[in-house]
Amino acid sequence: MSSDKILRDGRLHIFLLGSGGPINNNLRVAPSIAVLANGEFILIDTGPGSYRNLEILRLPAAHLTAIFLTHFHSDHIGDLGEANVLSWANGRKKALEIYGPEGVEKVVNGFIMAYELDKEYRFTHHGEDVLPLQAATPISTTILIQKSNERELVFDRNDLKVYAFEVDHSPVKPALGYRIEFKGNIVAITGDTIKTENLVKHCKNADILFSEAISYDMLKPVIAGAQTRNLSRIVKILTDIQEYHMEPVVAAELAKEANVKKIVYVHIVPPLPNKLAEKTYLKGVSDVFDGEIVLGEDKMKFRLDPKR
Ligand SMILES: [Zn+2]
Ligand SMILES: [Zn+2]
Repeated sequence: MSSDKILRDGRLHIFLLGSGGPINNNLRVAPSIAVLANGEFILIDTGPGSYRNLEILRLPAAHLTAIFLTHFHSDHIGDLGEANVLSWANGRKKALEIYGPEGVEKVVNGFIMAYELDKEYRFTHHGEDVLPLQAATPISTTILIQKSNERELVFDRNDLKVYAFEVDHSPVKPALGYRIEFKGNIVAITGDTIKTENLVKHCKNADILFSEAISYDMLKPVIAGAQTRNLSRIVKILTDIQEYHMEPVVAAELAKEANVKKIVYVHIVPPLPNKLAEKTYLKGVSDVFDGEIVLGEDKMKFRLDPKR
């Protein structure tokens, strides 16, 4: 099947499974990025709805090796149980490795418990040959950043390297971004964060930067509308979230300062229902960054040829 071939063609393949954030419409689901190279298949985050897109794209689920979580907000972890059980049902033969900041063990154990009965049903029904038990239960690994400003090599197999670095999504602590390297290509993923010097440092010279961004400008009328209707809860939440994300123009500054080739906007909030909204979201971005600017869409594909 062609989906297996992309694992072995020597290139780095990236699929944007979820380009939305916590508030979405029918055009976007929550964050997840699939990376495939040299027999390795990893996911960065597993936002709700994203696993369906992996299936729709017919990615080789049986070869899913590892999942890297940026942090544990529900929009980043919701499909973790689905990713584990459905890749197992699809023929994965080894236990899935799940990496994340401190707290990952608790999250993974929670999913294990929630899916325990499902595991028993499937195993009893289909048997060890079809659904080997040792592949059913994921293994969690806590990523500790030894030196606060340095990146940590957390995965190094078949030329695919994954580095984790600290981002600032306070009060969510710790939170991580990831830098992926494969045969001279660099892909950076911000996770949820504000712009910091450390973030710029670890996104340096990326061929593709997947950056989160929330348009505070576009939230203004929503907040004003909620205020007139005395919806104080919505006002409070939509105001609070502006403390720990980047605006699209700030993400463009990050792209410029980090000297990246291409920025792909992800974690897009608010939902963009039409072209006019897309234009508003990206307003001012091209004045700041003169590289390639892409508004992320679900199921978007990227391919990088090896540089060495
Ligand atoms: Zn988020
Ligand atoms: Zn978050």
